[in-house]
Amino acid sequence: MSNCLFCRIVSGEIPSTKVYEDEICLAFRDIAPMAPTHVLVIPKEHISGVSAVTAENAAIAGHCIAVCAKVAELEGLENGFRVVSNCGDDAGQTVPHLHFHVLGGRKLSLEMA
Ligand code: AMP
Repeated sequence: MSNCLFCRIVSGEIPSTKVYEDEICLAFRDIAPMAPTHVLVIPKEHISGVSAVTAENAAIAGHCIAVCAKVAELEGLENGFRVVSNCGDDAGQTVPHLHFHVLGGRKLSLEMA
């Protein structure tokens, strides 16, 4: 999707600070970090969000979750971390490409909404 911000990051057209990459997904630092560690894990294939995860692409989404754990390890988040995926307007999703926020590096608020 040529007009998708995260697809343009995957292609290298827009720069990012890469933390991890493999053939299925890319992890890079959020441009506006909300915690000492704030990394986004995204599939290279365009999937618009959690609501677009199906039986056909669930393995890709699952791989992204495994990479969230890998990122937490790489970032030294042995005390714990949070994984968040906003889906749709009410959740505040601003980029319509599936992504998982990996947040950590301090005690996180327990507020969920
Ligand atoms: P969400 O609001 O859940 O859709 O998350 C989108 C995230 O993308 C936000 O946390 C933004 O700060 C982040 N973001 C937007 N543009 C960039 C960019 N060029 N590089 C890295 N992160 C970005």
